[in-house]
Amino acid sequence: MEEGQLVFSIRQCGNVGCGFRFPAAAGSGERCPQCGGATAVVAIPHHKRENAIAHPVSGLHLELLLDNIRSLYNVGSIFRTADGAGVRHVHLAGMTATPEHPKLAKTALGSDSQMGWSYSRNGVDTAVRLQNQGYRLWALEDAPEAVSLYSIKGNELGDGRALLLVVGNENVGVDPAILQRCERILAIPMLGVKDSLNVAVACGIAIYHLLFGKENL
Ligand SMILES: [Zn+2]
Repeated sequence: MEEGQLVFSIRQCGNVGCGFRFPAAAGSGERCPQCGGATAVVAIPHHKRENAIAHPVSGLHLELLLDNIRSLYNVGSIFRTADGAGVRHVHLAGMTATPEHPKLAKTALGSDSQMGWSYSRNGVDTAVRLQNQGYRLWALEDAPEAVSLYSIKGNELGDGRALLLVVGNENVGVDPAILQRCERILAIPMLGVKDSLNVAVACGIAIYHLLFGKENL
């Protein structure tokens, strides 16, 4: 993205009692956005790593089924996380937008992404077809029969079959016709507020735990 090409610095407002500290692109931010006072450059942001932090590639073949995800923001966010974590394929179904959607095209997949995706109108058909091909079906859902994501043992992941993790609609969750076919239903433990996590955040937690948390399982 073009933003990455800009040089940023960290500036701070010199007004006593304000002190607003914020990143600003070169040539901007000389006035404090909060109080209008004069600001000065106080730090230069660190450079990002050239290469991602190395980690052994997981032996788990993980694919996602995003069924009826309503929010474009959530779809884009899940795509980026899945791409970064090494998910092998993303199946999209129902109302879930594809990376061809104009509002997703720019952010969902990097130009160097290798990750494949496919779309079908009916997520149940997709889940049944993949299950018949030998995929294990797991769902991410706050269902009564769910178990904690963190109760999964490493040997449950390592049986060599591809794992399809199903994520459902923000309002109604995973389609009951898919849920009843799932071997495992995973939930993320929540402290305090009982409302469930944003679906993209929950999906990211699950993806990273299943793919990279193995030595701790
Ligand atoms: Zn200020």
